[in-house]
Amino acid sequence: MSGQSKTPPCPICTKPTPPKALNRFAPFCSRRCADLDLGKWLKGGYAIPGPEAESTSKNPLPSPANDHFADPGQPPEEE
Ligand SMILES: [Zn+2]
Repeated sequence: MSGQSKTPPCPICTKPTPPKALNRFAPFCSRRCADLDLGKWLKGGYAIPGPEAESTSKNPLPSPANDHFADPGQPPEEE
């Protein structure tokens, strides 16, 4: 079958994508996958702050001296 351009599979869900002419979310199959990919980039680009880590901070200015050591005032991360 020639004359029909093949589209690469969606990089997110690996499903076949619609023809590019009809697919405004190319190279993804749908907006959902495009959003998922965008979310991946956003997560990788932004630093994810710990839950309420700032609210429990006692020192407004972080000291570079204890940067390599855990703050004794804060408990270690637990599940
Ligand atoms: Zn997809």
